Amino acid sequence: MGQSKYLTGDSAAIDEFLDKFDVFLFDCDGVLWSGDHLFEGVPETLELLRSKGKRVVFVTNNSTKSRQDYQKKLTGMGIPSNVEEIFASAYSSAIYISRILKLPGPRNKVFVVGESGIEQELRTENIPFIGGTDPSLRRDITPADFAGLADGSMLDPDVGIVLAGLDFHINYLKIATAFQYLQRGAVFLGTNLDSTLPMSGAFFPGAGTCSVTLANMIGHKPTALGKPSQAMMDAIEGKFRLDRARTCMVGDRLDTDIQFGIEGGLGGTLAVLTGVSKKEQWEAKDAAYAPAYYVDKLADLRGASS
Ligand code: PLP
Ligand code: CA
Repeated sequence: MGQSKYLTGDSAAIDEFLDKFDVFLFDCDGVLWSGDHLFEGVPETLELLRSKGKRVVFVTNNSTKSRQDYQKKLTGMGIPSNVEEIFASAYSSAIYISRILKLPGPRNKVFVVGESGIEQELRTENIPFIGGTDPSLRRDITPADFAGLADGSMLDPDVGIVLAGLDFHINYLKIATAFQYLQRGAVFLGTNLDSTLPMSGAFFPGAGTCSVTLANMIGHKPTALGKPSQAMMDAIEGKFRLDRARTCMVGDRLDTDIQFGIEGGLGGTLAVLTGVSKKEQWEAKDAAYAPAYYVDKLADLRGASS
């Protein structure tokens, strides 16, 4: 892999780096915070970028939250922001359905495997849906369910899309229902395919847990709408009218953020070492992706002022 330039402590290199870009796409968890713990100096760093006229966009794969949820979280963390600056995988999925997929009439109904963030974004785009947080699906499967799913009497004939994100209440009944829709030709979408979810200093099953299970059964992967999917990059480019050459992706994860920026042909990628990926990973001989730049932590971008 090519050399990644280390910027921490090098004010001249930081200035040169900042001058190269007008827009910064920020991954959230692992860059700005870890769970509910805000990293030191992050609000000040974002403020510094804004004061230099840089555009800031928050790009997260977390599908369990809507953009409104994220705006509340950012504000609560002391990061003033606007809903329109937030691009989360649930929103990315909703606008893909309403603006790109555009299934005719009733076939636009979605069976959701996921949490309320997805439901909120579908509602905003006026997309009909079932499943999701519906409490009637939070139970064990029964012999009557097997029969009703097999003969279709328990299925909604209007469902033309299965959208899978991270579902903390995943169970056999939901997976079986989603699989029936897929076998009947529903379009298969995934908010994001993260294999793992970092939480409280350990790794847990990520959103891929739900979609990969379904993919195994149906024999093909979903169209993914979160990082590193370029469907998400195209939507971001369209919304913010950004010049890719003057845009930098900032992230903590090689296989989502850095891959996303490189495959999107962005002018640069910056990795921070406060999250999932370690520098040994991109320095390894067989590394598939390496960031163009890296810092120990985001606040190091403040250079001499940090
Ligand atoms: N998915 C879920 C459910 C999460 O909670 C998180 C982090 O909080 C992520 C994905 C990864 O988010 P990000 O892309 O901001 O690192
Ligand atoms: Ca992250």
